[in-house]
Amino acid sequence: MPVWGDQCLIGGDPLHAVLLSRSQVTSVVDDDDLIFLGLFRDKPAFAVSIRSATDAPFPELGEFHDLRYLGTVLPPDEANLVAHARALVLWHASQVFCGVCGSSARPEAGGNSRICLNDECRRVIFPRVDPAIIVLVSQGDRCLLGRQSTWPEGRYSTVAGFVEPGESLEDAVRREVFEETNIRVGQVTYHSSQPWPFPSSLMLGFMAEASSSDIVLNDGELEDAQWFSRKELRSGFPKLPFRISIARRLVDQWLEDINN
Ligand SMILES: [Zn+2]
Repeated sequence: MPVWGDQCLIGGDPLHAVLLSRSQVTSVVDDDDLIFLGLFRDKPAFAVSIRSATDAPFPELGEFHDLRYLGTVLPPDEANLVAHARALVLWHASQVFCGVCGSSARPEAGGNSRICLNDECRRVIFPRVDPAIIVLVSQGDRCLLGRQSTWPEGRYSTVAGFVEPGESLEDAVRREVFEETNIRVGQVTYHSSQPWPFPSSLMLGFMAEASSSDIVLNDGELEDAQWFSRKELRSGFPKLPFRISIARRLVDQWLEDINN
């Protein structure tokens, strides 16, 4: 799986992830640069970082594209492989030196970790995942959606934010909702998750019930936040998040939930 910058190679019709054989990448990567991703369709798969080329390599095989696009066009197993490859390549590029002693670090364990080369340190560095919560807050037949000023006009989405050190997921939900909208939240229920490797987040999705209703944009992160009824959401305004996003999944779940 070649990764060029932060982009991956796709081609064919229908579009699929282009996987190269070892011999096809011999001229552009060393063995030290191979990152083992596990077995893919019963064959060992590796990520390789293509650093040398200024023009996109392998133009005869396809085109390099951003993961945000690839996630919408590739079969799920290929999209997962692409996301895994890209995440590890970018992680290695960001962890060249040990964060404790500043010495160089090199890949270990097939590229799934790095180790500090200073014999007195030898710190092992692992890829990290940053948990973030995303939550559909509802109260009866209305739900709480907000928008950031940089989003396309009319688009609203669920409240989201990073989990702080030492904080439970439920507390993170309550804190983020309060900070962004001043709404107090009672019961919090886990729904589902979605990796968001830009660069390394994991979105943990929740449904929550509001115990207050007056919206105040406390921390300025949102440009606007409002309560919307099911009827409003079905009418086409506001514009909802993209279909592949967990935010949309939470909204759709709430729209279907007639018990609420
Ligand atoms: Zn070190």
